[in-house]
Amino acid sequence: MSASILWLRRDLRLADHPALYHAARQGPVAPLFVIDHKVRALGPAASWRLGQALTALAGALRARGSRLIIRAGEPAEVIPALARQIGADHVHLSRGLRDPDFAFDGLRIEIHPGNSLLPPGYLRTKTGTPYRVFTPFWKALREQDIAPPLPAPGHIPALADWPEGVEPADWGFGAGLNRGAGVLARFTHAGEDAAFARLQEFLHRDLAGYAVARDRPDRAGCSALSDALAVGEISARQIWHAARAALHEGVPGAESFLSELGWREFARDLFFHAPDLPRRAWQGGWDAFPWRPDNEDAVAWRRGETGVDIVDAGMRELYATGRMHNRVRMICASYLTKHLLTDWRVGLDWFAQCLTDWDAASNAMNWQWVAGCGPDASPFFRIFNPETQAAKFDPQARYRRHWLLAEGAAAFLDAAPRSWGLSETDPRPKPRIGLAEGRERALAAYQVMRGHAHSTSDRKI
Ligand code: FAD
Repeated sequence: MSASILWLRRDLRLADHPALYHAARQGPVAPLFVIDHKVRALGPAASWRLGQALTALAGALRARGSRLIIRAGEPAEVIPALARQIGADHVHLSRGLRDPDFAFDGLRIEIHPGNSLLPPGYLRTKTGTPYRVFTPFWKALREQDIAPPLPAPGHIPALADWPEGVEPADWGFGAGLNRGAGVLARFTHAGEDAAFARLQEFLHRDLAGYAVARDRPDRAGCSALSDALAVGEISARQIWHAARAALHEGVPGAESFLSELGWREFARDLFFHAPDLPRRAWQGGWDAFPWRPDNEDAVAWRRGETGVDIVDAGMRELYATGRMHNRVRMICASYLTKHLLTDWRVGLDWFAQCLTDWDAASNAMNWQWVAGCGPDASPFFRIFNPETQAAKFDPQARYRRHWLLAEGAAAFLDAAPRSWGLSETDPRPKPRIGLAEGRERALAAYQVMRGHAHSTSDRKI
């Protein structure tokens, strides 16, 4: 029986893995991860998180008599070379967000469902166009039959001879993190088993209160599954079906949680149709907006030194943990793009450096949403007041105290590069700009754009 290569990308799990499931039924499988130019371009936190996921997967494969092979290079060369070495004649892989037409030197290629509920681009409006607004997209998605999750294969046939290999830990994932890696590790639970355990804990403990708690950074009420989803330690289908079962049992919060998975799906769909989403404003007319390029205020923002407590708390959480609560992501992104009038791409790039759950589609859609230039975006002139937001969603200032004064502050200082020159005795900085002044400046800039823009119509996708 000839062997096949299982080309792994952001699908680092054994259960509900259609490509692995089918490969294992056909004969010996060589699980392969390729460190290509896309992997090398990852931000340090996402790269580090990927390394953690690969280490966990390598262990899980070994426990089943299989191995994880890691090679550096471009897939078009690495895959045929490995196929020649082990005598494989075909390649299994999971569908990516936007893949080219792969060709590997005559090898047969089988593409299986990836980590979306439906293939991106599958849902269309009645007139056959892509969705541009979330609510109708969500209504259509809710009605779909989503494939039930597959079990992990009972047996993964091994190669007779395994090629020499290097352990994931020796490939230098997240090398750019410097001393931050030790801090990130305190806040990360890598691997498929940890993701599944977290899902169970969330369903039984937190889901009922999710609709309210999801907006409260001072409570641990969200699933915290986004980094596991980003590397594919858990599938969207597994989470979807578990939450649907809870919905049928009448658990409050399930509908709200499912719709967040809907936002993830919407982001993937948008990215599929507009792959330049991370660099180009989705709505027309925004090229005339007088964004400030990277600047001293943005440097302070990155370091959690703006003087606005909720913003600085969020930016510290991001740097120390590789995550930030969704409500605070919105507040920090709004402050950068509106009060500091800084180009949303400056913020998007920093999130890509720092997030362990970095996802090209979700990051881009959300930055554009907050900045006002994205699909279904909150209008630019609706400007979050960070103090009002903090009073509403962190009413006892627990979250802010944690990251500015207590253990969170200590973790952040452990992680922050020494070159930033921060110390625990530093007084809180003065705000870079008054909230009212920043708001007026942003609104004036918006008027400039409206004056310049000949067309305010949405961009065609
Ligand atoms: P939960 O509240 O438990 O939600 C469950 C899942 O739904 C999440 O794991 C995620 O997959 C999905 N989800 C929830 N909210 C959103 C959303 N607004 N958009 C898309 N999917 C969502 N999420 C990423 O996964 N990667 C990113 O790079 C990313 N960048 C963001 C940038 C900005 C400026 C903003 C405002 C949001 C961004 N988000 C991103 C979305 C969101 O903040 C995170 O998905 C969420 O905080 C993850 O925490 P959780 O797993 O506890 O989410």
